[in-house]
Amino acid sequence: MSLQEEVKVKMKELNEHIVCCLCAGYFIDATTITECLHTFCKSCIVKYLQTSKYCPMCNTKIHETQPLLNLKLDRVMQDIVYKLVPGLQESEEKRIREFYQSRGLDRVTQPSGEDTVGGDPMGLPYSTFDHSRAHYFRYDEHVSLCLEKQSSSKDKSKAVLQQKYVRCSVRAQIRHLRRVLCHRLELPLQHVQILFNNEALPDHMTMKQLWLSRWFGKPAPLLLHYSIKDKRR
Ligand SMILES: [Zn+2]
Ligand SMILES: [Zn+2]
Repeated sequence: MSLQEEVKVKMKELNEHIVCCLCAGYFIDATTITECLHTFCKSCIVKYLQTSKYCPMCNTKIHETQPLLNLKLDRVMQDIVYKLVPGLQESEEKRIREFYQSRGLDRVTQPSGEDTVGGDPMGLPYSTFDHSRAHYFRYDEHVSLCLEKQSSSKDKSKAVLQQKYVRCSVRAQIRHLRRVLCHRLELPLQHVQILFNNEALPDHMTMKQLWLSRWFGKPAPLLLHYSIKDKRR
């Protein structure tokens, strides 16, 4: 794999974590639902919740009557997006400037660093994660995995992962991992199985459940195996 291709793959994997599922663009004014920690653009989720009380990603009920109460602007996430996507912050600021100019309005700008005082124009609070907690979300929301091929005499496939170390969200499930594996190995989905100590793991298991139940207290990366079923059977 060339370096360019590798960068493309990495960006693609990363995108799953910084793209809003409602508009398919990078998060703008990243806003997180406090009940399930799913993140969207502020305008996308606010609009969506005019007709629903449930998270568009996981269907968690956000609030009995007023879902907007359980939204928080997620500055840590927005910073990550701006750092990762070159030019996004500038183009968003330009867009806002033009929007105000086109309507002949003055934009009320807030001095940086004091945004929690004036608050968001819509009244959404900023997430109150303190530094240590922000740190926690930024670094520990992911798990490191090592994917080794299960050696088996029945397995005639030559497919082996070039890059066996994977970092993924604690919310990712085994089925996501299987999908990534199949994609990288260029195999159909039903041919790859993920195992921990010879035990096949269920599709719905999350990385968090896996880590807590099988790897708690052990050093990263968590060791998993994958087996490939013979295509001719
Ligand atoms: Zn959006
Ligand atoms: Zn959710």
